[in-house]
Amino acid sequence: PYSEEEEDLQYRLRTGEVVDETTYPMVPHMCSEDARLQTFQPWPSSAPVRPRALAQAGLFYLGEGDRVQCFCCAGMMGGWEAGDTAWGEHSKHFANCFFILGHDVGNVPSQGGAAA
Ligand SMILES: [Zn+2]
Repeated sequence: PYSEEEEDLQYRLRTGEVVDETTYPMVPHMCSEDARLQTFQPWPSSAPVRPRALAQAGLFYLGEGDRVQCFCCAGMMGGWEAGDTAWGEHSKHFANCFFILGHDVGNVPSQGGAAA
């Protein structure tokens, strides 16, 4: 996928504006994986990436096209292609995301079990 905010994020990281883990998550009301999963109800069935995989990768649906955003770094992605994985693309485009890096940013894993 393409990344809309990557350049801006890189700029902020470069300028040292983003230095402190306490600024994360950027979208605190989407800390819960279940809350993120809920946003995918109108997710296009033609999209090659499944809602649960996206929610597990910290992403929620913006309700438009196939654009998603990360609750932690607020990075936005879209243009999903066959073979893309949610976690793979998130870590590729936003390698400095604290959720990607495994920091405790308040993520609440789904209580729904492993059912896909
Ligand atoms: Zn992120």
